[in-house]
Amino acid sequence: MSTILCTRNITVNFGGFKAIRNLNFEMKKGEVRFLIGPNGAGKTTLLDVICGKVKPVQGEVIFKENIELSKKQEHQIAQCGVGRKFQAPAVFGNLTVFENLELSRKRDRSLFSSLRARMTREEREAIQKQLTMINLQDKANDKASSLSHGQKQWLEIGMLLMQEPELLLLDEPVAGMTKSETEKTGELIQEIAQARSVLVVDHDMDFVRKFSDKVTVMHEGQILCEGSIAEVQENPRVAEVYLGR
Ligand code: ADP
Repeated sequence: MSTILCTRNITVNFGGFKAIRNLNFEMKKGEVRFLIGPNGAGKTTLLDVICGKVKPVQGEVIFKENIELSKKQEHQIAQCGVGRKFQAPAVFGNLTVFENLELSRKRDRSLFSSLRARMTREEREAIQKQLTMINLQDKANDKASSLSHGQKQWLEIGMLLMQEPELLLLDEPVAGMTKSETEKTGELIQEIAQARSVLVVDHDMDFVRKFSDKVTVMHEGQILCEGSIAEVQENPRVAEVYLGR
């Protein structure tokens, strides 16, 4: 399997504080990778570096083996095929679920012209397919503001998928969700990974156990260990950093 993403010697400084130190990280195409680790380990910062929100002082981020992301702007990185979802859902509350997806579809035209442009039948079908995938097929004409927290998270994931990213970055996607919403989100991530790669930051260990292919444990801006969830849980250093010993 080819490499979808790799970082080489990434270092991020916030003032005098090193949030990430010489980090080498690699992910294969089609993987569902979970990033775990105690608070402050640098997990969100790593997602920020990959999507271009934070620039490293040193190192490279390589996408699909030859695209250097660290020199690009955030919007260029998104155009390359990296979709980033932040913790809080960001949907247009006064538009319907369908319209939120419609607005998010991939296009070369400006936002204004695309709002007026008529959708093709293929585009409508693509939106219907997306609605089914994110469990919102019955909510197409409801205002996004009327959705539950979990449903808004799915809608935002659906909006990202309309951009056809090859790598999806999800920051705590199940925070605040009910147990059944969490389960459905895990299933959605696995479905997404049939065609894309997914990198998820999360704390919910039951969720990580059930839906990860591979887990990377971060601590103090570095990778502490990697492997299956069973492998990392057996590592005595992992228990130490979580317990703060
Ligand atoms: P995690 O996601 O693992 O909890 P973060 O990546 O959010 O960790 O943060 C790593 C460290 O960097 C933390 O100590 C945090 O306080 C610090 N940090 C994150 N963002 C900033 C920022 N914009 N300015 C200063 N320090 C920051």
